[in-house]
Amino acid sequence: PDRHPRLNLPRTIYGDRLNSFGPDLSIKAVRDTFGMAIDKVDGTSFVAAPLVGGEENTSAAFEVVTAPANRLIKVGVVHEATKADIANAFDLAKSAQPHWNKLGGAKRAEVLNKMGDALEADLNRLCALIVREAGKTWADAIAEVREAVDFCRYYARLAIEQFGQPKMLTGPVGERNSHELHGRGVFVCISPWNFPLAIFTGQIAAALAAGNAVLAKPAEQTPLIAAEAVKLFHKAGLNAALLALLPGRGETVGAQLTALPHIAGVAFTGGTETAWMINKTLANKRGPIVPFIAETGGLNGLFVDTTALKEQVIDDVILSAFGSSGQRCSALRLLFLPHDVADAYIEGLKGAMDMLLIGDPSNPVNDTGPVIDKDARDILEAHLSRCEAKGQVLHRTPTPSGLNGDYFAPTLVELSSADELEREVFGPVLHVVRYDSQNYQPTTDALAGRGYGLTLGVHSRIEAFAEDIAEAVPAGNVYINRSIIGAVVGVQPFGGEGLSGTGPKAGGPFSLIRFASERAVSNNI
Ligand code: GLU
Repeated sequence: PDRHPRLNLPRTIYGDRLNSFGPDLSIKAVRDTFGMAIDKVDGTSFVAAPLVGGEENTSAAFEVVTAPANRLIKVGVVHEATKADIANAFDLAKSAQPHWNKLGGAKRAEVLNKMGDALEADLNRLCALIVREAGKTWADAIAEVREAVDFCRYYARLAIEQFGQPKMLTGPVGERNSHELHGRGVFVCISPWNFPLAIFTGQIAAALAAGNAVLAKPAEQTPLIAAEAVKLFHKAGLNAALLALLPGRGETVGAQLTALPHIAGVAFTGGTETAWMINKTLANKRGPIVPFIAETGGLNGLFVDTTALKEQVIDDVILSAFGSSGQRCSALRLLFLPHDVADAYIEGLKGAMDMLLIGDPSNPVNDTGPVIDKDARDILEAHLSRCEAKGQVLHRTPTPSGLNGDYFAPTLVELSSADELEREVFGPVLHVVRYDSQNYQPTTDALAGRGYGLTLGVHSRIEAFAEDIAEAVPAGNVYINRSIIGAVVGVQPFGGEGLSGTGPKAGGPFSLIRFASERAVSNNI
């Protein structure tokens, strides 16, 4: 009787129980504890300030962080890191890293596993902050904490497996040959606002697992949840010198961090344009040549053929395009529908869009919250105006009036080809394109020619069709007969190619490799 039908979300159980579970929102008692946690986000308890060697510097100017869902709600305050904070953080990290590196993978794994436990234990408070600061729904916030926990535990496991004993190699008689991995030094991690806890924590956990120290810059829109994560890392036993929080804007703090002459590498998740800029900064330095690990955007397509199951397609498309307000780099942007069934699908999508509830995500029945800020909304509005001018808008989900936040209603647009979409549109806009599923090559060529390669979906009951599409379109993550979002750590290692990023994939067996240096030792005993 206590179960809420709308919130009874599917819960996946993974074979080896590696992945974190999280609470079941359909149970009323769970929702009540969440409600209480949200009420505690009162604008006074959360501060993000430069945190260097465990010391908070709150002397710099501050800004108030408000909730995207309701700009009248204050979430906390943020102080931007200064040049001096950055210099101190680097010096401290540099001197602490060699000891951390020498500790070995198993000892580092202990700290990461404690961090996983700490996140899990603090789930309600962290979710409440994510809902308020990032405008995510409760379900998305829970998924995010679970993913952060998974990253810690998964990278702890890789640290043990890959950073333990040197691997002995065969060589000439009388010579002992071995190969080992170790940390590179001080890594800069720059993370996005759309996964303000999971990706922030995941980048740091990977860098630390491999034996590095970290200077972490969260997205300027979501510094508060990042500050909580850093404090939990320190509480979990990490020497505070090994992880500094440096909040601020990309143009200032981000640019200063990537220009530091002696950093060991940069891990970045965000837009392709920013990735190009960072790459250029790194290339212009006359110092060590360091790795750049970038995870960027996508022009993600899903191909439906006439054998697909319509109800399943509609569900998966709605989730992939409009879940998290379309603010995932994995989100569906281009839906390819065969000519003879396209109209029926479009009608189905319109009906499903009308069932989405838009509103403040602190109310768990709402499916779609706001977009992250006014800038994001302006870009979406401009895209909408262009589509409206061309008569391409097919449908929009009705939005209630009186919301004080940055909302943008899920929107369905029809294009004549993938080429018409100039760039990734980061929000709840789905573009449909009619195509010939018997002669799909011009369509797959057009999509492949765009140069992205993140996620790709196929809905078909003909395996050979799915395989052919997957061969024709570059993508790091291919999803067949399901949604194309929500990669799970260790289950669907996540990341793309081309304009979508460098790899290695997050949450995959090779995640730590580029954070590490290799050494071969040849001993003629
Ligand atoms: N890993 C997320 C997913 O599979 C997307 C990450 C991102 O948007 O950066 O949906």
